[in-house]
Formats: sequence, C-alpha cells, structure tokens
Amino acid sequence: MTDTLSRISRLLHHRTGRLAKGEPVSLPIMATSTFHLPGAPDGSHFYARNGNPTVETVEAEIGILEDAQVVVFPSGMAAIASVFQAVLRPGDTVLVPSDGYYNVRNLLAAQFVPMGITLRTCPTAEMAAADMAGCRLVQIETPSNPGLAVCDIATVAARARSAGALLMADNTTATPLCQQPLDLGADIVVMSDTKAMAGHSDVLCGHVATRDADLFEAIKTCRRLSGAIIGPFDAYLLHRGLETLELRLDRMNANALAVARAMQSHPAVLSVHYPGLGNDPFHQVAMRQMKGFGPIVGLTLADEASAEQFIDDCPLLSSATSFGGVHSSAERRARWGDDVPDGFVRFAAGIEPTADLVAAVTQTLDTLS
Ligand SMILES: *Cc1c(COP(=O)(O)O)cnc(C)c1O
Repeated sequence: MTDTLSRISRLLHHRTGRLAKGEPVSLPIMATSTFHLPGAPDGSHFYARNGNPTVETVEAEIGILEDAQVVVFPSGMAAIASVFQAVLRPGDTVLVPSDGYYNVRNLLAAQFVPMGITLRTCPTAEMAAADMAGCRLVQIETPSNPGLAVCDIATVAARARSAGALLMADNTTATPLCQQPLDLGADIVVMSDTKAMAGHSDVLCGHVATRDADLFEAIKTCRRLSGAIIGPFDAYLLHRGLETLELRLDRMNANALAVARAMQSHPAVLSVHYPGLGNDPFHQVAMRQMKGFGPIVGLTLADEASAEQFIDDCPLLSSATSFGGVHSSAERRARWGDDVPDGFVRFAAGIEPTADLVAAVTQTLDTLS
C-alpha cells in the first residue's frame, strides 16, 4: 500500500505513523547543543553539529520527496558551497550556467578560482551542447533564475557522464514536486529551501540530495567539519512549510500561468517568459521533464520607470527579492546586475486567489499603457 501512496502523503505521515502512545503529534523542536553521553562516546546523538533529531526528521521528509539521501543546510548557498567543497580540488574545472543564480559564480570566482579551480560558464539554453571535456563538475539551473531558460536534463546528464563529470542540478525554481533531476540522471540536487519549500519568507535554508552513498558521506562530513548546521527552530519552520508544499505549489503554479497568459496579451508588456506558455521557446522541453512550471514569470516592460511603477502600484505585489512565498512579489533584476533589460521584472506568484491576482496585475498594467 505505501508503495502506491504519493510522496506528499508519505511525507505527511512519515513521523506520525511511527509515534508511541503519549508522544506529541507535532514535531518537537529539540533545542539542545549537547546530549546525555555517559561512558563511551557513541549512541545516536552526542553533539548537535553531528546531528539533531528535529533536523533529521526534516531530512527524512525531504528524502521522501527526492527519493534520495538528504543533508539540510542553513541556506541554499551553504548547500551549494558544500558540494563545491566536497567535490572540487585544485586543477579541476567546473562548468556553471552564465545566466543562473549570480552568487554561485561569485562564490566560485572569489574562493575557488584562487585555489586553482577553472571556472567555465555557458548559457542555460546551450548547456545540452556545451563542451564538458575535462570538467569535474557541471552545474545546471533549470528553469534558470531569473531568465527562465530551460535545458534538457537527461541530455545534459548523459553528456556529463560521458565526459566523466558529475552533474549537479539546482532545482530551486521547480521543486521536487514539479521536476526530478535525479530521475533524469543528475548525480546531485541542490536547493534553496528558503523559497517554495519552506514557503513563508521567514527562514533561510537549503539542502543537498543524492543517491550516491559516497557523495552523501562526503557532503555530510563537509557539513560536520565546516559547521554549516541549521538550527532546530529553523528546521521546524522548514518542516511546517513542507506539510503544505503541494497545496501552495498548485496555487502558485496556477497563478503564474494565469498571470503569464494575461501579461502576454497586454499591450504594455514587451515580452513574457514562462515555460508553461505554449509559445515559450522552452515549452516543449519543459513539458517533457516538468509536472508544473513553477511560480516565477519574467516580463519585460518598456523601461526602468514602467517596471518600478508596475511593482509599486500593483496592490497584490510586495516589492521584495526572493520567490516561493505566500505573497506575490516582484523586483527589477537589473538592480542586482543580472544580464537582463532595465525593464525586466521577475514576478513571483504567491497563493492569492487566481482571479484577484490576474485582475490586480491587468489593472495595474492598464495604467502603464
Ligand atoms: C535563492 C537561490 C539560491 C540561494 O539560496 P539561499 O537560500 O538564498 O542561500 C540558489 N539558487 C537559486 C536558483 C536561488 O533562487
């Protein structure tokens, strides 16, 4: 029976299905740095940098979603950095998307290139044809943040494998409910769980998932040695968000598609990027590998002033960076130096009723044209 249950049902009952009489139904927050440890230093827990039961429960829950072993981190960047630390050695080459999350390139340039690692970049749309010869690690981010370019994960995975490289997929914009890179041949998934996974814009967190036992041990060791440990309170917030992930994502995906369609036919909008749109250049490949297209829509307005006016005036948009939270939000990405037009807005759908959101967006766009 449990084999036929959806991942989200198994996640919801993972802990409650094992409770002894009298145990709390809600996940306890184990706020402790140390554990009772008489005699020999062994047993299940001894010091919280090595393991904490609240964190381990969340890791098991995300493990159900990923069908893999999971290590949770205090941010998405801490998760990504741990993979670089565990895998890259002087003389290695790493290939990352030129149009993906900018701090990944900044981290490599600041800390890994000076240690003798070669950094190569390639646009997401060209990843499936990239030259991977001599690479130790290839990273993809699909759909990419913020441009929403998509690459064919299975094709990239096959090419990485034949080049002898590991493939790491940043699955933040899709989440494991919409896309499973490990099923398509990726060796490692990394995510910023700060976004849709935790889902309430109140905690930073991230994870690494892999089905390779050696990589899993290497990442765990890295976390123990570097000390990038999530606290039990933050782990609890992530757990609490995960319990409603499917519901929130269904609404966010529906909102993003409805808003993208409305924007597409609006005269004030120069272009719309959303892999769920039938005429998006990445729609076909997205259809093959995604079950939903995520909360982010990219739209280009006439110029910086129109973009700022749209974000400020739309009554259901908070002006903020990040995405995947319950409130719809938006920002102009050129302000961070992303290689996008000045009028490019990254719109992140929240969970407002769809009709309200479409009306608010359309009416605000009407005032621009
Ligand atoms: C936000 C984000 C990150 C970084 O995650 P943090 O939790 O902010 O450290 C990495 N990759 C992508 C695609 C992101 O959107």
